[in-house]
Amino acid sequence: VTAPAPFRFTPEAPADVQFLLDFVNTRPVGRRSDCFADAGIASAYLRNCGFDVEVSTETVERIRHLRDVLADALGTDPGDPANAYDWRVVNALAAQTPVTMQFEAGNIVSVTGDDVVARVLADVQAAMTSGRWSRLHLCANDVCRVGFYDATRSRTQRWHSYETCGNRVNVAAHRARKA
Ligand SMILES: [Zn+2]
Repeated sequence: VTAPAPFRFTPEAPADVQFLLDFVNTRPVGRRSDCFADAGIASAYLRNCGFDVEVSTETVERIRHLRDVLADALGTDPGDPANAYDWRVVNALAAQTPVTMQFEAGNIVSVTGDDVVARVLADVQAAMTSGRWSRLHLCANDVCRVGFYDATRSRTQRWHSYETCGNRVNVAAHRARKA
C-alpha cells in the first residue's frame, strides 16, 4: 500500500490544530481518495502521521464516523441548535473513549488512548481552550470542502484559497448571472 500523506496547503495552520485539519482533510474530495478507505490504507496513513498503529476494520469505521461528524461540526459552537445533532454524536463518541494523559517536562501533555479517536478529541479540547477552534472552517466551495485555518481578524474567510476556490465560485456565479 502506498501510504497517503496529509493534504496540506499554504498558509499552513498553527501546529496545534494541524493534526485536526489533516484529520478532517482525509475525506475523499475531488481527485483525492479517502485516507481511511480501509484498515491497510488507514494504518499506512497514520504511520505517516507518527502513529505506530495497525488499526482494525472496526476501528477505521469508528475513526471515519468521528471524522465525518467533525467535518460538519468544524469550528461550530456545541450550543448552537443548528449543530445539536453533530455534537450529540461527538459527545457520545467521547463518552466511549478512554483517554490517558501524561504530564511531562516543558509543560507537554501527551495523550494516549485506545486509538486515534482519543487524540482527535484531545485536540478538539485543546483547540477550544486556545480559542482556535472557531477559526477552523470548511471551504465554501461545494466541490472542495477542505478544512482550513482562518487567520483573518473577522474570522469570516469563506474559501481555503481565494485563487482556487473563491475565484471559481465567483466566475461561475458571474456566468450564471450573464446567462
Ligand atoms: Zn477550497
